Amino acid sequence: MNKLLIKECPVCGDLHFDHAMTCTDFYATGETFDIVRCATCGFTFTQGVPVESEIGRYYDSPDYISHSDTHKGFVNTLYHRVRRYMLGRKARIVESESTLQNGRLLDIGCGTGYFPAMMQQLGWSVSAIEKNAPARAFAKERFGIEPLSETQLSTLPNQSFDVITLWHVMEHLEHLHATWDTLYRLLAPNGVLVVAVPNCASYDAQRYGEFWAAYDVPRHLWHFTPNSIRLLAAEHQFELSNTYPMPFDAFYISMLSEKYRKSSMASIRGLWNGAIAGIHSWRNKEKSSSMIYIFKKKDEASETK
Ligand SMILES: [Zn+2]
Repeated sequence: MNKLLIKECPVCGDLHFDHAMTCTDFYATGETFDIVRCATCGFTFTQGVPVESEIGRYYDSPDYISHSDTHKGFVNTLYHRVRRYMLGRKARIVESESTLQNGRLLDIGCGTGYFPAMMQQLGWSVSAIEKNAPARAFAKERFGIEPLSETQLSTLPNQSFDVITLWHVMEHLEHLHATWDTLYRLLAPNGVLVVAVPNCASYDAQRYGEFWAAYDVPRHLWHFTPNSIRLLAAEHQFELSNTYPMPFDAFYISMLSEKYRKSSMASIRGLWNGAIAGIHSWRNKEKSSSMIYIFKKKDEASETK
């Protein structure tokens, strides 16, 4: 297996990392991976993940519900209910942040296409990118959307989108800097970039430690905090303009984390801890299990001040 060894911190360029913890791939293989922390800026990432061309088998699990449509079981039922609510909330955030009701939207990593389908219904002109071929086929069959493959990103014209969204995608991407450069190229002046990622400074991350389901090694390579993603974005001429908590993620993540640490009554405990995490993120949104970050291009962000 070819592993990706990160030698330089993507956020600050430092070469020294401390071992933070060893996490198990509870989802697919049971293999263990080290999470390290930059000694200078504190940015945290999974060291030694399989390279992109070899990571496919780590996504092979019947439980991979992001790319499937099963309604079986309590956790899945809850997931689907929450997803319906979250789709509506995402649409409201996109429309209020962009102040548009029918702009041009690019959704990167659209999975089975629920979000772009809804935005299309609302009147948006939608493009989507998805690397997983079965998910692309599903989006086409179910919604008539034809997501492009990842390699087709480079064919899209400059400044051609008012809004670009990445819902729980950035944490998976091997080519972090290249991705941010592409986002800058594709986003229109005054455009809005929406990035949702798990927050490893969250209450639930601190509570569950190595069992926190959103570490999700080796599929999650980067483990962002509000501070680290802001610094990374700034390197690519983006300015953080707003944040939203995603407190519902805490329920799902807590239930999975309880399952991973083999708790009895994992679902009940997970719901309970999800509720406590919700209270913490209500007090301080930067403690939320996942966060939605709104970025604007630096020049435009400062012009509108
Ligand atoms: Zn660093």
